[in-house]
Amino acid sequence: MLAGALLCCLLLGESAALGGVAVDLAAVDLAVLPDVEMPAAIRARVEALAAAFRRETGRGLVITDGTRRPERQAELMLRNLERGDDIVRNYANKRAARAVADAHAKVRRLPRAEILAALAAVIRAQVQAGDYVSKHLREGAVDVRCTDLNASQRATLKRLARARGVEVVDESRTPTPHYHLNFV
Ligand SMILES: [Zn+2]
Repeated sequence: MLAGALLCCLLLGESAALGGVAVDLAAVDLAVLPDVEMPAAIRARVEALAAAFRRETGRGLVITDGTRRPERQAELMLRNLERGDDIVRNYANKRAARAVADAHAKVRRLPRAEILAALAAVIRAQVQAGDYVSKHLREGAVDVRCTDLNASQRATLKRLARARGVEVVDESRTPTPHYHLNFV
């Protein structure tokens, strides 16, 4: 009875999150949110991790972000800057993050569309030079939803990922909670 109620809640949650399409996470290894592009270069490894996770926990993973274009990366970094995040502290590639923060400081009084264009231009130039402020830009990372994982499932995900050489960045206590998985 309890299990039935839980499954019902889960399905309602998925139904809302996946664009009106009900996905039973007990039956699939992986669900990808609409408008999210699974990075082709690491797809097989993401799928293998998700399959291992479902074997141990009985449920699949929800991928909330994958490959990003510079414009989308600029959106996310501007959102972080607007909410007061220290992006140089939060990004592993400090030099690239500092360049984005410096560009933002120069244009922050302009209309938002112009700020976004300026940040995207910086990020695009970095990508062209092979310098990636986020591994999402180089098909090397995905984000996994964590709000619907309990403590034991979270620990299992971290263990399985690390056993496969995947770096887990725990963003579960940020205003946009998720686990960021670096595959490269
Ligand atoms: Zn991420």
